[in-house]
Amino acid sequence: MLYATINPFTGEVVKTFPDATDEEVRNAIAKAHETFLNWKEAPFSAHAAILQKAVDLLRKETDQLSALLTLEMGKVTAEAKVEVKLSTQILGYYVKHAEALLAPEDLPVLDPAEGKAKFVHEPLGVLPAVEPWNFPYYQIARIMAPQFLAGNTLLLKHASNVPQSAAAFEDLMKRAGLPEGGLTNLYATRSQIEMILNDPRVHGVVLTGSEEVGSSVAAIAGKALKKSTLELGGADAFVVLKDAELQKKVDWAVFGRH
Ligand code: NAP
Repeated sequence: MLYATINPFTGEVVKTFPDATDEEVRNAIAKAHETFLNWKEAPFSAHAAILQKAVDLLRKETDQLSALLTLEMGKVTAEAKVEVKLSTQILGYYVKHAEALLAPEDLPVLDPAEGKAKFVHEPLGVLPAVEPWNFPYYQIARIMAPQFLAGNTLLLKHASNVPQSAAAFEDLMKRAGLPEGGLTNLYATRSQIEMILNDPRVHGVVLTGSEEVGSSVAAIAGKALKKSTLELGGADAFVVLKDAELQKKVDWAVFGRH
């Protein structure tokens, strides 16, 4: 069993979760695809109203949601609350700006008498999201909000040490009115990620994580001719100039790294 809440301070196994079965994964793909077909033509206002409701719930339930982050990945309370607030802001940003960001754009043409050219954004379909444990809600919020507003549906494979945070976000979105299949949390195994990517109803993958895992998942996506967007590990050099205020730099270096 891969998925478990383990208190990072004491090492106590608080709760374990069975891996998804292949049948559950197949059902989740089917539902996500069905929801995609039903929702891709829905007006922007219908999508936005759901995200706005999620914003309201995140605000109202900040204490419970942040307590879950502290339990599962040890984020101190103040930082956990900042993460919930950040997720709220991300959802709010897309509610406000997504329609304009996705608006069709006219393109210049050689001869206007021959017609017009437009750049349009079309939804793709079902997309799996593989996410890491360090910002359990923020990682979902920043992928889900733009994808859902663009008309796509998501299958979430979160890190195995934050199963309750993943389930809590899925539940919050359901209560906000997200149709079943809009965001599905799956306790998927690694081989099931390959199975998902090979399904013709799935059109790409988003992943945040280590370079090693990114390379492996992108290779599977590439072989299946699916798109992938990867946000991988690594840190730039921390350059301290001669005239820097040293104590301030030290404080920010420690903050940035930890
Ligand atoms: P990781 O091992 O790559 O895990 C990330 C996700 O990939 C988890 O959900 C993990 O699930 C899953 N995974 C692992 N092996 C897999 C496989 N073979 N096939 C499919 N999915 C697989 O990353 P991590 O070390 O926990 O997370 C931190 C990494 O993410 C660091 O390298 C960090 O720098 C990077 N990161 C980068 C950013 C950024 O802003 N660029 C932000 C956050 C994190 P399991 O938990 O089940 O293994």
